Amino acid sequence: MTTLQAINGFKDILPDQIHLWQRLEATATDICRRFGMREIRTPILEKTELFVRSIGEATDVVEKEMYTFADKGLTMRPEATASIMRAFIEHGMHVQQPVQRLYTMGPMFRHERPQKGRLRQFHQFDAEIIGPTEPQQDAELIAMGHLLFSELGVKVSLELNSMGCPKCRPAFRQRLIAGLEGVQDQLCEDCRRRLHTNPLRVLDCKKPGCRALVADAPSIQDALCENCTSHFATLRDTLDLLGIPYNLNRFMVRGLDYYTRTTFEFVTDQLGAQSAVGGGGRYDGLIAELGGPAVSGIGFAIGMERLILLMEQNEKENSAALSDTDIYLAALGPEELKHCTLLAQFLRQQGLRVALDYSGRSLKAQMKIAGRMQAHYTLIVGEQEWAGKEAILRDMQTQQQGGFSLSGSPLEQSERLAVVLRAGSGKSDPA
Ligand SMILES: [Zn+2]
Ligand SMILES: [Zn+2]
Repeated sequence: MTTLQAINGFKDILPDQIHLWQRLEATATDICRRFGMREIRTPILEKTELFVRSIGEATDVVEKEMYTFADKGLTMRPEATASIMRAFIEHGMHVQQPVQRLYTMGPMFRHERPQKGRLRQFHQFDAEIIGPTEPQQDAELIAMGHLLFSELGVKVSLELNSMGCPKCRPAFRQRLIAGLEGVQDQLCEDCRRRLHTNPLRVLDCKKPGCRALVADAPSIQDALCENCTSHFATLRDTLDLLGIPYNLNRFMVRGLDYYTRTTFEFVTDQLGAQSAVGGGGRYDGLIAELGGPAVSGIGFAIGMERLILLMEQNEKENSAALSDTDIYLAALGPEELKHCTLLAQFLRQQGLRVALDYSGRSLKAQMKIAGRMQAHYTLIVGEQEWAGKEAILRDMQTQQQGGFSLSGSPLEQSERLAVVLRAGSGKSDPA
């Protein structure tokens, strides 16, 4: 019989890693609360048409990366924005409240070519603000992403561009096509194919040959109409006001069709070549195009796996391993174990994290278990301690130990113990 394994590109998140995920989720949730955002959860499966119409037919995602049940016309969501817009329209959310500030976290699915750090089931944190058109709102959303990275201790830089609007982009698009048609045969295969369907994507092709060919291409930032120019200028002024640094990057073009005006990416060079950890932009025409009201929107998504990698690197540098256990109770005999069983229950009721072992192992074996768990404290209740009504309480970090009186009821003992543990655990547990 062959052993069953998870499928390629799909990965377990194991308990050793989970503290990073929980910290990311808790920090993101808290920051969203501070920015007045509310959580929404949409289904994994949607009609294929939703993604084709929103993301755009001539995009990598729709062309080759979606997990689609062709016979049923259904697709597993490759990103979150389209589903949130569908829900927004379906529930008439703008009628209840003209400005909707929404976020979600969860798995997304893309059948990408397998490569390092790219999973086929990956997770995104996604934030969307629907309604406002003002550039200050774009800056506020960017500031929210910026704060998330900084509170997680992760260094990223911000790349900023404007994609123009339906008024100014078509002319730029034509100029770009005209300029590149002459060197068409020198473009990579992908770029040659998308030159006429999605020419802006040629600007952010990573292949050196294509990069050289677009180096002298016109800049979209110089081709913006009056309204787009002033929107972009106010956005930059507001970021300056907030002290958020950015690089203007005219080659940064997001892969999805629906973006208008502001586009941005959070990039890092800590994961090999410089690459994006997250990004987003404004999508002013999208909701109307999906059959909803003519309202604007702006949003971004952060790849949670990539962010976890960065958090993990920091953790190694700070080498502050987090313990899951406040105290390990080492009982060495049946009566002692009975006492510790009750003590554990009381301590847990008081919110402490307690471990104990019922197998009757030797003290040495139990201390080994406590060490592996990185328990802050161990309470040792052996025959001698039980008879003398005084257990040994050892601080596992300093290796100092002292007596702990076993007088009074088990509840009283647990309360005294809780005070000691709380006083001693402040240094290594941020929770
Ligand atoms: Zn414009
Ligand atoms: Zn190319």
